[in-house]
Amino acid sequence: MEEIDIKSLNLKELTGILEDIGEKPFRAKQIYQWIHEKGAASYDDMTNISKQLKEKLKEHYPLTVLRQEMVQISKIDGTRKYLFALSDGNVIESVLMRYKHGNSVCISSQVGCRMGCRFCASTLDGKVRNLRASEMLDQIYRIGADIGERISNVVVMGTGEPLDNYDNLLKFIELLTDENGLNISQRNLTISTCGIVPKMRELAERKLQITLALSLHASSQEKRLRLMPIANKYDISEVLEACRYYFEQTKRRVTFEYSLVNGVNDTAEDAKELTALVKGMNCHINLIPVNPIKERDYVQPSSERVRDFKNKLEKNGINVTIRREMGRDIDGACGQLRKRYIER
Ligand code: SAH
Repeated sequence: MEEIDIKSLNLKELTGILEDIGEKPFRAKQIYQWIHEKGAASYDDMTNISKQLKEKLKEHYPLTVLRQEMVQISKIDGTRKYLFALSDGNVIESVLMRYKHGNSVCISSQVGCRMGCRFCASTLDGKVRNLRASEMLDQIYRIGADIGERISNVVVMGTGEPLDNYDNLLKFIELLTDENGLNISQRNLTISTCGIVPKMRELAERKLQITLALSLHASSQEKRLRLMPIANKYDISEVLEACRYYFEQTKRRVTFEYSLVNGVNDTAEDAKELTALVKGMNCHINLIPVNPIKERDYVQPSSERVRDFKNKLEKNGINVTIRREMGRDIDGACGQLRKRYIER
């Protein structure tokens, strides 16, 4: 019998599986709630399920549970960076950020990444494999259990390109926002992409209420090409068109992420070009002073230069914020903790 990843099934699919082994639908609902609402780490935790059924489930439907390998806790702001081991021995990282408005978790969507953005540590060793829906969900469930608090916001901004793992991502979204699970509101979920245009359009057509964040990082096609290989495949104009389409379909304001790299994309000329590029769009720009990685010689602009860039955009009526840096004292940039761990 082929192994079924029970944590990646929706309630209907789970009900079907349990019916096949002679169980009633209400059982499926109980088990589903144990897995997704209560984040049970084992079948043994499911106190209202008979021993006999638990044994059957253990045998045929192993429960995907991530093992916490390491956690780094920031003394400055309480940010926690987790390293989790998957059942095949791969490791991934996730981050918990504590805000006044609630707990936010940043998850990985793949083991490694194949998009090759020049400033990013997650992509240096390429992609190993996609994460299953269950493995994306369990990052959130394990962190919630670790801190004993509710997680209210989720951002898919860790290692990996979520739209390069589209089908599993859709399943993840369905389960995360399901009323019988954690029931996280679609509005509290953000998917960040380097700009896989056809998938952005497909996602738009689903008319979900999730936030789409586009990693723009440049004010022209030519400059974007220098930082992001994906620009070879999709021109900046097509990517922006897909963002406009996303807004048309969902009425959700798109976020642009713009990592400021000293002398590369933070000049007055860049601010001017960027203003022209997003003119008339219902959007928000998030400026992120680049987090330097040792493999590349990209440097953060001074805070004065960052503020100056922000002011230039603001003067032109653009919604813009500077990303608050969290967990400054722990392995900062995305992918660095995992990389250091593997290298050891
Ligand atoms: N693949 C997706 C999501 C993962 S990266 C994407 O490209 O959007 C999450 C965000 O962090 C992206 O905007 C990415 O470009 C940015 N990022 C990656 N490495 C960074 C670094 N060293 N400094 C600043 N931002 C970085």
